[in-house]
Amino acid sequence: MKPVVSKLLTSENENDFIDAINLFIKEFYIKNLFLSLKTQNGFYFYSTFKKDRNLSETKELYDFKRIAIEEKEQVYRIDSLLYDIRVKDDVVLQSGNHYILLTDKQEDLSLIFQNEGEIYDERKNSEILEILPSIKNGLTKIYLQQKLSSEKDIEEKIATVNKKLHTLQQLTILLQSTFDFDRILDIITKAITSSLGFSVVLVSLYNEKDDSMERVAQNGLSEKVFEKLRKQKVPFSTIKNLMQERFRISKSFYINHKEMDLNNLDKTIDQIAYIIPEEKPEEYINWHPEDILIIPLYSKENKILGILTVDKPVNRYVNIIESIDILESFAQTAAISLENAKLFSKMEQLIKKLEKVSNISVLMNSHIQLENLLSHFVQATKENFPNYNTSIILYNQFNELEIKTYSGYTDKYIERINEMLKMGEGIVGWVAEHKTPVHVKDTRSDPRFVGRLDVSMSEIAIPLETSSGMIGILDIESEGVNSLDENDFRIVSILASHLSISIDNTFKYEETKRIANTDPLTDMYNYRFFIEKLKEELERSKKLSIPLSILMLDIDYFKEINDNYGHMIGDLVIRDLAQLLLNTVRKGDIVTRYGGDEFFIILPGTGKQFTHSIAEKINKLVKKTNFTNGIKITVSVGTVTYPDDGDSVETLLKWVDDALYDAKRKGRDRING
Ligand code: GH3
Ligand code: MG
Repeated sequence: MKPVVSKLLTSENENDFIDAINLFIKEFYIKNLFLSLKTQNGFYFYSTFKKDRNLSETKELYDFKRIAIEEKEQVYRIDSLLYDIRVKDDVVLQSGNHYILLTDKQEDLSLIFQNEGEIYDERKNSEILEILPSIKNGLTKIYLQQKLSSEKDIEEKIATVNKKLHTLQQLTILLQSTFDFDRILDIITKAITSSLGFSVVLVSLYNEKDDSMERVAQNGLSEKVFEKLRKQKVPFSTIKNLMQERFRISKSFYINHKEMDLNNLDKTIDQIAYIIPEEKPEEYINWHPEDILIIPLYSKENKILGILTVDKPVNRYVNIIESIDILESFAQTAAISLENAKLFSKMEQLIKKLEKVSNISVLMNSHIQLENLLSHFVQATKENFPNYNTSIILYNQFNELEIKTYSGYTDKYIERINEMLKMGEGIVGWVAEHKTPVHVKDTRSDPRFVGRLDVSMSEIAIPLETSSGMIGILDIESEGVNSLDENDFRIVSILASHLSISIDNTFKYEETKRIANTDPLTDMYNYRFFIEKLKEELERSKKLSIPLSILMLDIDYFKEINDNYGHMIGDLVIRDLAQLLLNTVRKGDIVTRYGGDEFFIILPGTGKQFTHSIAEKINKLVKKTNFTNGIKITVSVGTVTYPDDGDSVETLLKWVDDALYDAKRKGRDRING
């Protein structure tokens, strides 16, 4: 062994080591040499195949094996040798005449070489063995030096990353400090242009209503240019065309200007996947003004909220992967802030809308009449929600759905819709059948819709439920796709439930009033109703200068019937007589039970003469009639007429009472007045 080799191998200098290796190669007629040092981090390589050092582990090892295979076709040999390195700890192996593989005793150094044809003998083998530790020392030194310098690199890298992280952290804090949408956009654009390496940034947000991207904020462009851009809506499909798998780096898309022929772009990609790409472009690119870099803004649910596009990098050569990395970190926070701001403003809108709902509802309870309630409702709804076209659809007496009140439609349109409702058609028909609320964002794409076909509408239809079941439907329409959103659905649902309660209240009020005005035995109006009605009718007669008559009727000797047949039978007679009276008078005449065996009949617009003939008719009919158990009765009738006999309720009532009393006194079963 030449001493110079040993000396050089122990030198601190890397070049000395290389010189020593070269001498070693010469001394032993080595053609190719491959050294590997097993380190904690993997392997450190030195090879004469390539002059580079520290090559990638697997690639270099593979190359060596491949060359070996190609040249000598002894792959199995090399494989088994390498295998031996791993399992044995102190072997020098000879591979036929051509290869020798050595390992040191610690198993962390391997040396594979191909010699120039000389077959080594024992002596040469032991010489190589002797030199091994020195080679190992030299290799270790180089490795350590390399490692130290790479660690310095790492430190620098960490420092820049730290700086960037700090910037990101600051920006995150800033972004999180506000719910104001414009302020967030402002922070996003300024942050990118001031700290994240690009002097132009454009923020576009996805508009669900027309599936487009709207440019909403920028920095670095002139106002004029931006104004132009802002006015153009970009169909989302155009953006999707750019977001192709082959342009994707991480979650972003870099489209080199050379790829810009948009016609050639794949238009079928509609899914943006989230996996790390197989192929990455060269790290540094020479940015071209027509290059496009898109950083998508994704919501928490992975829906696209918008995109950031950047241009004019601060440095012409852009480390595209690093840039994307930092822009994406920022975009993630930015997207969350934008989403939160959007939710916040939606909440604010909802609160405002709820205030309006309470405006509408407050006055709803003051209406006791259905018609008033409904017209108040549709008017108040129009005032508070001008984009709502409202119709209230209730079941009519034939159990058909019918629009009772509406706002925002023409009468003609309502007529047509009413016809369709009778057939149970339309979204309302569906809601009636399924008793389920419906929210249609685009009526044109809903086959159930039968209304306006000239424009797209959104529609919300909610069943109106009361204690006695479903009574109808509240229907709201608004022009435009998605013009009614989830908030509107909530609003309309609340309105519908308030409306249901109010409608139910008017029903209950009507019912209570009916009960108060009704005589329970005969189910006809009672005295209370009679007095009210009499006042009303008298006013009307005065206004119209027409007559009005009253009949007062009392059964003759009714006590006897009670005495002879009992009270229950007596009741039946009273009830049958009530029915007979109702059947005998004309429509518009009002029959009421005064109490006991007495009845009042108001005959609006009827003069004295005709009143008498009606009284006669009743008198005769009663006499002819067989009541329960074949009971026969007669009645006495008093009559009075306005204006002939008096012009006030009091006078008329006194007069008719007197007339009846006289009829009784004169022998009963007669008319008097
Ligand atoms: P007249 O009218 O001819 O003078 O004799 P009357 O026997 O019919 O006497 P009056 O009209 O003064 O009295 C009415 C009677 O009707 C008194 C009461 O016993 C009876 N009566 C009152 N209300 C009811 C009722 O709701 N059901 C029954 N079965 N009887 C009643
Ligand atoms: Mg009587």
